[in-house]
Amino acid sequence: MGVRLDRSSTWPYEDGEPGRFSYARDNHPTGVACEETLGALDGGVALLFPSGMGAVTTVLLTMAHPGATIAVAEAAYYGHAQLISHLEPWGLRLVEFDQTGPPPDGADLVLIESPANPILTMPDFEAAAAHPAPVVCDATVASPLRVRPLDHGCDVALHSATKVLAGHDDLLAGVATTRDADLYERLHLMRRRTGMVASADTAWLLHRGLRTLAVRFERQEATARVLAGKLTSHPTVQTLRYPGFSFLISFDVADADAAGRVERAVRVIENATSLGAVRSKLESRHRWEGDRIPAGLMRLSVGLEDPEDLWADLEQALAQA
Ligand code: PLP
Repeated sequence: MGVRLDRSSTWPYEDGEPGRFSYARDNHPTGVACEETLGALDGGVALLFPSGMGAVTTVLLTMAHPGATIAVAEAAYYGHAQLISHLEPWGLRLVEFDQTGPPPDGADLVLIESPANPILTMPDFEAAAAHPAPVVCDATVASPLRVRPLDHGCDVALHSATKVLAGHDDLLAGVATTRDADLYERLHLMRRRTGMVASADTAWLLHRGLRTLAVRFERQEATARVLAGKLTSHPTVQTLRYPGFSFLISFDVADADAAGRVERAVRVIENATSLGAVRSKLESRHRWEGDRIPAGLMRLSVGLEDPEDLWADLEQALAQA
């Protein structure tokens, strides 16, 4: 049976009292249905947000305080570090650390990523869980099919649902999941207070995307494994990063100019940002991330196209490096 889409922003009181749903900024049925599926995937209770950044912003406003030091995995999703720097006037302090080891002493909140986009390191979950600060883990690239951060002792699992969870480049959404009932209430209250609410249309479309998540993910991962194997021995590729699972690969060519030539040469693969969707995408990350990553770093998100067509496209594009 399909999921019902209810676009109402308000529902009548029952006997003069608010019922299960009264005003959509608190909760709406299409969102709650999607959250139930997301929570089951992540092994906790999920909250939906209008973007991945909306989710992390709500987490920071809820779990940090003025003067807090936030330890963020280095060369992980650059938007997280940018956001915390942006919030410096509100008293947050950013410290970046190598997530393959323990988080730094003195951190008040730890933000790790499994695996980090685009450097594709995996966090040391045990070391993170042993740190006294609460731990938040962005598992966008792994998806809950491969890594469930709550099973590894994290307090919150985060996802940009814009990516593989939705899978079709047609919506923005974010998810934060926890098993801690008190934290769930605090996150929910902050969402309500700030109005950081995903629309019913977004929730409906995401929910539909989740129905094909497993088949999309498995096919994208199988193709990524094949392409990673071929890229490793390609003479133009200097460093190949692939964690052995999921759909995301990064590799280095000589420099930013070579990366620019390669990205402009792709034809089957889209030269576009983002990741996780049915269309494969390649881009030089230097334009966005500057010197925090190697100048020639290219990020390849593998989609559902024929693996041989993808390899032929990559080979002809790499010939331009
Ligand atoms: N986390 C990761 C790993 C991402 O790659 C992104 C976006 O690229 C985000 C979070 C932010 O998500 P959104 O673009 O949905 O706000």
